[in-house]
Amino acid sequence: MLRLANSNNQLPDLIGKITAVKSTITEPPLDKNRVSATIKMDNDTSVTLTLFDAQAVKIHNQLAQMAVDPRICVATSVNPRMVGGRLFFNGTAGTHIHFDVETVAGESLFSSGLLEQDTGLAPVGRLVRSFAKVETLSIAELNDFVLNASSQNIDFICTGKVTGIKLDKGWCYVSCAKCFRKLYRSVSSLTCLSCNNTDAVGILRYRVEISIADETGEGLFVAFDGVMTKLHNMRAHEAVNLLPGNDVNPEESDAPQFVLDMEGNTYTFQVKVGPYNFTANNHSFTISRILGEGDPEPQPAFVDDGAADDNGDDNNDV
Ligand SMILES: [Zn+2]
Repeated sequence: MLRLANSNNQLPDLIGKITAVKSTITEPPLDKNRVSATIKMDNDTSVTLTLFDAQAVKIHNQLAQMAVDPRICVATSVNPRMVGGRLFFNGTAGTHIHFDVETVAGESLFSSGLLEQDTGLAPVGRLVRSFAKVETLSIAELNDFVLNASSQNIDFICTGKVTGIKLDKGWCYVSCAKCFRKLYRSVSSLTCLSCNNTDAVGILRYRVEISIADETGEGLFVAFDGVMTKLHNMRAHEAVNLLPGNDVNPEESDAPQFVLDMEGNTYTFQVKVGPYNFTANNHSFTISRILGEGDPEPQPAFVDDGAADDNGDDNNDV
């Protein structure tokens, strides 16, 4: 097979064990799509197989939907190139991809001892499934998204300025120490309806509703305990000590000044959109993370073995 590299006389088939996958495919797919896989052949040579455009999208979707991660890949009529002593195979119009036992050759390799060697690498399907580019949306786009898209779990990045701290539901709540749900006060104790416990242990947690606007629109967001604690480096029960007066009920008190002072600040933050955002009631968006200065934006979690860019450009011209 090595002899075939850099000659286009006859396109070889490639068979081997998938050890890593890298995908640039977004949802929905944009142009310049590619999926690269590191394939370990039975002579222990690792090569890079790259598929482009429609073939890449097809295989990306196929991998994402497979219940079991494929381990063996057969790729027919791939175009080999030697670059820097490493073998690269690009998909061609005649390339077909088969996984595991879909072919006789794949089945024989599947049942051979090769698979017993654990590479310690993450399974390929999980790698593809974990790949999700976190898109940046304007607040108008975010509001439109929950009106027009189908119900789903998805994260976005937004940037906006705090236009108001909404305090009609308070700034904190007494939560069940076990399940974090809101506790209900009776005369002498706290009740967790969820845990069916009339003598629950309560922990004070932040829940702050915030209006945030950018130049496109305004949205209602909620920052929960983890986000607020990290942003202000202070737990909710510690913040109670900053409140004026003694024996205040924090659930019914004004917010601490540092919470009120968030108004006017501009934040870049990650929004977690869930099925409840798609219901008729206009639910607030949950802020799952506030990006500090210097924080890297969330990146797709794919394996980069450093070898996928075989010629430095984004097309498959050889
Ligand atoms: Zn509970």
